[in-house]
Amino acid sequence: MITITDKEKCCGCSACMSICPVNAITMTPDSQGFLYPAVNSQTCINCGKCEAVCPILSPTPEREHEQEAYLLQHKDSEILRDSTSGGAFTAIAKSILDKGGVVFGAGYDEGFRVIHKYAEDYESLHAFRNSKYVQSDKRECFSEVKGFLEEGRYVLFSGTPCEAEGLVNFLGELSGAEHLLISDIVCHATPSPAVWQAYINLQMKKNEHSILDFRFRDKAKFGYLYSQFAVVRDKNSLYEGIETNMFLRAFFSNVCDRPSCYSCKFRKRYRVCDFTLWDCWDASQFTHDSRKFDPNAGITRMLVHSERGRKILPDVLTQCTYTRISPDDAVKYSSREMFCPVPKDEERYRKFWESFSDDPEGTLRRFFPKTAKTRIEALLRRIAFRTGMYSFVRGMYKKFFGERKR
Ligand SMILES: Cc1cc2nc3c(=O)[nH]c(=O)nc-3n(C[C@H](O)[C@H](O)[C@H](O)COP(=O)(O)OP(=O)(O)OC[C@H]3O[C@@H](n4cnc5c(N)ncnc54)[C@H](O)[C@@H]3O)c2cc1C
Ligand code: SF4
Ligand code: SF4
Ligand code: SF4
Repeated sequence: MITITDKEKCCGCSACMSICPVNAITMTPDSQGFLYPAVNSQTCINCGKCEAVCPILSPTPEREHEQEAYLLQHKDSEILRDSTSGGAFTAIAKSILDKGGVVFGAGYDEGFRVIHKYAEDYESLHAFRNSKYVQSDKRECFSEVKGFLEEGRYVLFSGTPCEAEGLVNFLGELSGAEHLLISDIVCHATPSPAVWQAYINLQMKKNEHSILDFRFRDKAKFGYLYSQFAVVRDKNSLYEGIETNMFLRAFFSNVCDRPSCYSCKFRKRYRVCDFTLWDCWDASQFTHDSRKFDPNAGITRMLVHSERGRKILPDVLTQCTYTRISPDDAVKYSSREMFCPVPKDEERYRKFWESFSDDPEGTLRRFFPKTAKTRIEALLRRIAFRTGMYSFVRGMYKKFFGERKR
């Protein structure tokens, strides 16, 4: 049976809970809000299935395979505005819904907790669009995917690379089904649901009845290149950039990620899924044909890993402006986020969590305060943007300090 002694060795995918034949496993939150399997030893029959499906205990070796790569920008301006990058996810999802299929993705519950759920109509895809930089609760989704596949329906599962590997292990032979598609992302890391809850509490105290949505990467103010965190309210929505928004700062400071993210085993080029999606900040790095894209509307980079993915590709491409690029180039210009786990500053990590256990909301305020420096940085960015210098400044920053991840 599964026993978690080292938290870095559990990514919380829920495959073990889903496979257990006697329902002996419950996914239970720890003090950081991350879910871990808890086994009822009275019920457990020691069948070993939980260990066999675990993507960390029983990893899938990386196998080189043929790949294609594309840059895509959805043709529908509303979908594009709503999506994190170029809306490739929605194009794949629509291709599945057109076949009477079901799409699984990460959305919110009624209290803005990040959860995985499924959609069977186009309108419901809205809930999945836009990255949520928080680990999602997979609930019963893996078993639901299996149920729909057994009914013969097309299924798209969209999630992080560790969720994709957990699902493939859980499905076993069924993971080869012609009517299954899995789409993952290049994954910076997933922060703590408890830290997210503390941020929600802070916002609710200020705007309790008027909050309609939280959007981690909103393009409404300055477009894709300087996307903002948005607290969407019935009036006067609040927009904050990467330098002032508390939660984005927590995300990029890597102080509250799931322990497994600091030694992530799922960062690689050759993956078990059908599509990998991630950002493209500068199309001209990849193609001479970059002028066909609006650079500030968002572009998705996409790797196609499988025959299943190639089969549905024409349906995806027809919804988008696109260019085929070299897979080597696609991964070359994102080597850090594609291949290396996020760094951990042990001292800051310890201090953050010590403080958080006493006073969650105060910790966010103390660790990520709005100071003169952050306000000046935000102002300079806005000026650079309004004077059309933003891409130039960003390019220079990247040249001297490296890519800032989103
Ligand atoms: C936690 C996280 C970290 C990321 N890190 C990077 C990075 O370092 N570099 C980079 O280039 N791109 C990163 N991305 C990917 C990027 O933000 C976009 O999701 C990607 O470009 C696809 O955009 P899109 O416009 O096609 O789809 P979108 O419309 O953005 O669709 C988002 C898709 O992501 C899924 N999703 C959203 N939140 C979660 C979540 N918490 N867990 C699992 N699935 C989720 C949704 O189900 C949906 O399918 C990350 C995404 C997430 C969720
Ligand atoms: S060993 Fe078998 S019965 Fe026991 S928890 Fe694991 S899957 Fe369940
Ligand atoms: S990584 Fe997934 S399968 Fe392994 S113990 Fe954690 S939740 Fe279970
Ligand atoms: S960084 Fe790795 S372990 Fe963490 S959520 Fe992403 S894929 Fe999973």
